[in-house]
Amino acid sequence: MSLIVQKFGGSSVANAERVFNVAKIVTDTYAQGNDVVVVVSAQGDTTDDLIAKGQEINPNASKRERDMLVAAGEQVSIALLSMAIEKLGFPVVSLLGWQAGFQTSSAHTSARIRRVVPNRIRKELDKKRIVVVAGFQGVSRYDDITTLGRGGSDTSAVAIAAAMHADLCQIFTDVEGVYTADPRLVPNARKLKDISYDEMLELATLGAQVLNNRSVEMAKKYNIELEVLSSLVRAPGTIVKEKSKMEKMLISGVAKDTDVARVSVIGVPDEPGFAFKMFSKVSAKNINVDIILQSIGRDGTKDISFTIPLDKVDDVKECLQEYIENIGAKDLLIGTDVAKISIVGAGMESHAGVATKMFEAATSEIKVSVLINKKDADRAVTAIHEKFFEE
Ligand code: ADP
Ligand code: ASP
Ligand code: MG
Repeated sequence: MSLIVQKFGGSSVANAERVFNVAKIVTDTYAQGNDVVVVVSAQGDTTDDLIAKGQEINPNASKRERDMLVAAGEQVSIALLSMAIEKLGFPVVSLLGWQAGFQTSSAHTSARIRRVVPNRIRKELDKKRIVVVAGFQGVSRYDDITTLGRGGSDTSAVAIAAAMHADLCQIFTDVEGVYTADPRLVPNARKLKDISYDEMLELATLGAQVLNNRSVEMAKKYNIELEVLSSLVRAPGTIVKEKSKMEKMLISGVAKDTDVARVSVIGVPDEPGFAFKMFSKVSAKNINVDIILQSIGRDGTKDISFTIPLDKVDDVKECLQEYIENIGAKDLLIGTDVAKISIVGAGMESHAGVATKMFEAATSEIKVSVLINKKDADRAVTAIHEKFFEE
């Protein structure tokens, strides 16, 4: 007997038929003699719809109330899935994040899991019940409902797998695994048999939303092997693990991120310390900075550009405006009409030439990113995929 964690994303539970499809997968796994913990996301576009409803009422609502609102999506899903499982004649119980023991930081809308205390889950499993847990949510030390950030249910699943030492963690979604590019965008994209944590982490961070990047980070930390597979087609998926055969490949995938903005600070005094101080301020606000470019100094000043997540534009303005005025920089420009295209591959570590093929590139050992006009993003992904995988 094994303990298996199965996670189903929003499209996998989008309507009644899909809910029963998931109930069938779960109860088949249970009927084979396994303990099963299921993590589900909100149905279809529910989270987007809830966010839109909140915006309509108050675009400046507190993050606490926004969390209270969006967490409702997952509550609906766990109840519906549990009802379907009951109907199939199996014992089941649904649990909200706090009931399942998800203790998080109080950083509303992007809370971090501090620990999972799965006592209740264990008790329910001992009663031979299938346990259906609401993904994406937890509770802060102040007893407030929190959410983990968009796509956070993947992380909920991995966290349970880690806390309970599960034998297997399966992430079911609407594609058959991890591909060399988004299969919806690049029809020739190939399904990968396996991929290393490091490559998957880069791909996820750079825009391949098939797995949330925090979930991969956590899987790597606790050495949880993940399987990404389809809830609709019964076929082997992609295994995410420490080392993979794919490492012999130069490039494992192409990713697109359109949720980025370019920030340019014009006319920063060209003296040591200013840039450092600026980035310290940005990181203190929990804003992740990626591609960084500095112009060559002219007339004792230089320009510094960097990319940030699109939803941090207001935060970055708020945190830099005053500093920029104080140091006498000329201007703070924000461009939202950009997209970041990246290639990822462990093989690049030993092939320095790849980076030089791309213009104005920001590099780590296993990725290269470029910033381009948003309108060209899809064409760029297709062209780069062709170059590296189809020639
Ligand atoms: P879920 O609702 O199951 O969490 P998501 O929409 O978050 O599903 O993620 C699955 C989607 O990720 C796919 O439908 C696909 O369009 C997209 N995707 C982007 N890049 C990749 C990739 N490299 N491999 C597979 N899917 C990808
Ligand atoms: N429902 C949440 C979202 O749409 C969490 C998730 O899908 O993982 O972001
Ligand atoms: Mg997802």
